[in-house]
Amino acid sequence: MTQPFDPLLQDLLDVLGEGVVFSGDQIPGKAKSDESRTGRAMPAIYLRPRTAVEVADALRLCNAARRPVTIQGGMTGLAGGANPDGGDVALSLDRLAGVEEIDRDAGAMTVWAGTVLETAQKAAEEAGFLLPIDLGARGSCQIGGNLANNAGGIRVISHGVTRDNVLGLEAVLADGTVISSLNKMQKNNTGYDLKQLFIGSEGTLGVITRAVLKLKPIGEGRETCLCAVESYEAAVSLLHAARKDMAGLSAYEVMWRNFFDFSSKAEGLRFFEETPPFVVLIEQTGAASIEAFLEASFEQGLIADAVIAQSEKQRLDVWKVREGYALDHLPDLMNYDVSLPIGDLDAYAREVTDDILADYPEAHVSVFGHMGDSNIHLCISVGQAGEAEHNAVDGIVYDHVRRFKGAVSAEHGVGRLKRAYLGHSRSPEEIALMRRIKAALDPNGILNPGRVLPASEGDDSGRSVSVRTTVQNKERRRRRFDPS
Ligand SMILES: Cc1cc2nc3c(=O)[nH]c(=O)nc-3n(C[C@H](O)[C@H](O)[C@H](O)COP(=O)(O)OP(=O)(O)OC[C@H]3O[C@@H](n4cnc5c(N)ncnc54)[C@H](O)[C@@H]3O)c2cc1C
Repeated sequence: MTQPFDPLLQDLLDVLGEGVVFSGDQIPGKAKSDESRTGRAMPAIYLRPRTAVEVADALRLCNAARRPVTIQGGMTGLAGGANPDGGDVALSLDRLAGVEEIDRDAGAMTVWAGTVLETAQKAAEEAGFLLPIDLGARGSCQIGGNLANNAGGIRVISHGVTRDNVLGLEAVLADGTVISSLNKMQKNNTGYDLKQLFIGSEGTLGVITRAVLKLKPIGEGRETCLCAVESYEAAVSLLHAARKDMAGLSAYEVMWRNFFDFSSKAEGLRFFEETPPFVVLIEQTGAASIEAFLEASFEQGLIADAVIAQSEKQRLDVWKVREGYALDHLPDLMNYDVSLPIGDLDAYAREVTDDILADYPEAHVSVFGHMGDSNIHLCISVGQAGEAEHNAVDGIVYDHVRRFKGAVSAEHGVGRLKRAYLGHSRSPEEIALMRRIKAALDPNGILNPGRVLPASEGDDSGRSVSVRTTVQNKERRRRRFDPS
């Protein structure tokens, strides 16, 4: 069937040429969905610009045509943010890749947004530095995607989230204006810190094309251990002790029994005679001895047992269990990424688990996460799940987040999947201000529409969510949380 004439396609071809502009069968299948696997439509036009100027030209034309643009990085996102709607223009950053400069004196590297994280990490290492941003998807995710999502990952406890490791950036606005804010200095208080507008805005305010990232010294030596912990209170006290006694603490990850049991069995690995209620993974780089720390913790009754990795293979085995990839084989797995005050994480996890099991007695609920960063992940499978089950489980998970005054997204972003729940974590006034910023930077709403912000102002309190949940669940939760 012949496609109807698309004047924007012709304009883009005229300005950018055939090597940059693709349509129809030329568009690769990967343009359909990110790792959330919720994408359902192919874009109508696919762009692979090679320079920031080409990004600017593309956006100028799309803006004039009022055509939605979906920005695509490494497509490892878990919130559906990079999934296009049919008819969209998809703009891939994959060709805008490479390390432009490593400035040793400034302790900074300048990279193009489409650079794969692992490539940037290796370049930093070859120059004798550590690039502190690190996450499981390092082999595919891009620096631009990391900034757009303000990614967290496994080094947050020592180096902060992505935002804390960015000195400057360059971004292109919806109208094609290039904002070059490639600052390399540690201190710069000249007016508004514009880079912060783009970091964590999930592509709704501009296309990030370059970034200046902080580099740190590479730590000497690395020790990793697993600790058996009998209570959540002990896990919190152990965290305090680890922070106090280990200057080089680089990971503090907690696995609830259900998760550890499932993941270690699936990997065929056995670390303890019996799985304790909590298993804590501690990693440190530096001079302190992890053995001395564990001995002291044992004496204080904080841990019941511990295993120290004796080789790189054992270290990787420990992390393999923590990554929990075996969970992906459970039917219709639902992944959640929430933040709560550290003291509340276990109470939250227990309440969600109880509610899920009350409604779905056969369900699998796994809990684990970056406890040191007040962030846990819940992986829930209730068997084959349709929209009703997804909405019901979302409702349970996020209603409890609201009650504990937590965040419905800790590090994966809001994207398309959590926008209806933004009001669970942010006030109507905060969301109204977000809408004003969006309107100022992208008045025609062409950049990643349908992400982050709720569908309409009426949804800003998050109440619209109950419309999507089953009536039974809605009634049950209203009784529990809103006695009035
Ligand atoms: C195995 C695995 C492990 C993961 N572990 C973690 C983790 O520990 N911590 C964590 O935070 N996340 C994690 N993630 C989620 C994901 O990898 C991160 O969010 C990552 O930062 C996304 O980068 P990306 O390049 O793949 O972005 P994409 O998936 O392509 O896009 C994500 C969002 O950013 C926007 N975007 C992408 N590039 C740009 C750009 N240049 N300018 C403007 N907007 C842009 C997109 O439109 C979309 O809204 C994990 C994912 C997987 C599959």
